[in-house]
Amino acid sequence: MLKTDLSSDAKQRIDDLYTAACKHGTTYEAVVHSTFCDLVLDEFSDREADKPAFAYAREAYGYQTQDELRATQAEDWNNGVCSHGLDWMTCPAGCFEQD
Ligand SMILES: [Zn+2]
Repeated sequence: MLKTDLSSDAKQRIDDLYTAACKHGTTYEAVVHSTFCDLVLDEFSDREADKPAFAYAREAYGYQTQDELRATQAEDWNNGVCSHGLDWMTCPAGCFEQD
């Protein structure tokens, strides 16, 4: 299932990042997800050696690249869901308020 060339160190770091993301955005799943993706991107580079870490993050926690994230959020927005994974009835951050 998991790539054998993923070091246990990298796996641990990904697991820790997800835990950190959960603490950061305790309430909203979509916030946890986008925070996690940002953290992974900060922690790992696009070096060949880090590819297994990204693969693990994707497999274990649904990691998405920034492009994929934007596409997902644009799609959500078209469906009436903001970047917090909420709709206009429930988002407390004012995503749907117009000036
Ligand atoms: Zn929102």
